[in-house]
Amino acid sequence: MMSTRLLTVTEAESRLSEIRQKIDAAAQKCGRSPLDIKLLAVSKTFPTQMIATYLGLGQLDFGESYIQEARDKASELAGNPIKPIWHFIGHLQSNKAKYAAHFVDVLHSLDSMSLASELNLRAAALGKKIKVYLQVNVSGENTKSGMKPDELPGFLDQLSGLPSLTPEGLMTMPPFNPDPEVSRPHFAALRDLRDKYAPQLPGLSMGMSGDFMVAIEEGATIVRVGTALFGQRD
Ligand SMILES: *Cc1c(COP(=O)(O)O)cnc(C)c1O
Repeated sequence: MMSTRLLTVTEAESRLSEIRQKIDAAAQKCGRSPLDIKLLAVSKTFPTQMIATYLGLGQLDFGESYIQEARDKASELAGNPIKPIWHFIGHLQSNKAKYAAHFVDVLHSLDSMSLASELNLRAAALGKKIKVYLQVNVSGENTKSGMKPDELPGFLDQLSGLPSLTPEGLMTMPPFNPDPEVSRPHFAALRDLRDKYAPQLPGLSMGMSGDFMVAIEEGATIVRVGTALFGQRD
């Protein structure tokens, strides 16, 4: 399932600078500082060697979706001189929290209280804190994971009793559509939910290869870009 084609350092460098330029342009367009927008390189299904290439180019944040694959990559890179920051963006079952706690720095897909409690316990046992984004299903599409918007206030309340989890903000993933403008209202809805229920939380994890510029215009603080950096997934 690993994609085989490796990018050369030069190719990787030019993709990275192209994305960074687009981030700058989108930020400029709406009067935001590009420094407030983080690029998360979504490396799922791509070989560890590609992560090492991007690490060497100064890209530190990587996103993975499958726990076993993520664990393998984290252990392969454990001795790397530059340490990656691991973000987990896929659905995580509570019974896998024990694995995630060991290496995940930021979880973008927190969507159940049982996962939150389990992760909190595991992180506490390791003496670490894990940053979390609450995944919200703003579109109401029932195939997507994420909590309902009206579950947010109660969830945030309960999270305050879990000291090893540090809430950073909200995350969403709109239904796929090739037209980025179709995603815009979903991004705006997530920002409105943040402003309404969690104004103290700075983070909005939204936007992917096809729509990150629109997401930035709607307030994204971290964009999750896979294909545009690594190529097409099989
Ligand atoms: C795969 C994935 C991405 C990256 O998608 P691209 O279209 O390849 O940029 C972003 N977010 C989540 C949650 C993903 O699963």
